[in-house]
Amino acid sequence: MHDRRILEHEPGDLAAHIEMIAEEFRRGFEAVDRIKRPAVTVFGSARIAPGHADYEQARECGRLLAEAGFAVITGGGPGVMEAANRGAKEGGGFSVGFNIELPQEQAPNGYLDLALTFRHFYARKVMLVKAAEGFILFPGGFGTLDELFESLTLIQTDKVREFPVALIGTDYWHGLLDWIAERPLATGKISPEDVSLLRVTDDVAEAVGLIRESWQLAGTEPPVHEPEKADAE
Ligand code: AMP
Repeated sequence: MHDRRILEHEPGDLAAHIEMIAEEFRRGFEAVDRIKRPAVTVFGSARIAPGHADYEQARECGRLLAEAGFAVITGGGPGVMEAANRGAKEGGGFSVGFNIELPQEQAPNGYLDLALTFRHFYARKVMLVKAAEGFILFPGGFGTLDELFESLTLIQTDKVREFPVALIGTDYWHGLLDWIAERPLATGKISPEDVSLLRVTDDVAEAVGLIRESWQLAGTEPPVHEPEKADAE
């Protein structure tokens, strides 16, 4: 639990910690370089099992992204992550998992062409965003909410190019979206353009279409669907 040791200021070798973090960033950037096509990062609950409606929808989403020529990146864990990676493999695409070391041992899900496990959550977060041309979020808990607001903050502050953030599940998300409109937006704490890239839908094909359109609008050729594999780490 390196993050915890660092955050709790336990005495240790500062230089060694910093070197370890830098090394993790280096390995992460190298992994991102190995994704030789545009990619979409899919976030969502780690706590759902195959057969759950969200799992099957995330799997479908992974497949559609693969067929549209996008690599699929996730946190490499179970639930929505596993489903999206699984769909990507089923669609003949390229499937990436940026996993995190957790107190309870966890193996990356079994549907990855490229897998990298991080010790530090912040290094991993950078890679989940850096490689992506868009974000799709399924219903989730704190982890997913953190990833949603991190994506929006990076776009708002121009740290990453503007690209769509699609929320799947109108019923799940509408309370949060109403609150955002009624409070932060209505009281001027965010601007209308800050939320304009946020779309909520029940249709994964619509979410994939949105990202594809934005990719084309950015003046880039649409991705080509070429099933191919890179070595897993
Ligand atoms: P939650 O919504 O709290 O279930 O968290 C899900 C999000 O946080 C995912 O999109 C992951 O990026 C990250 N996450 C949470 N739990 C895990 C896990 N066990 N393995 C990998 N990533 C996880």
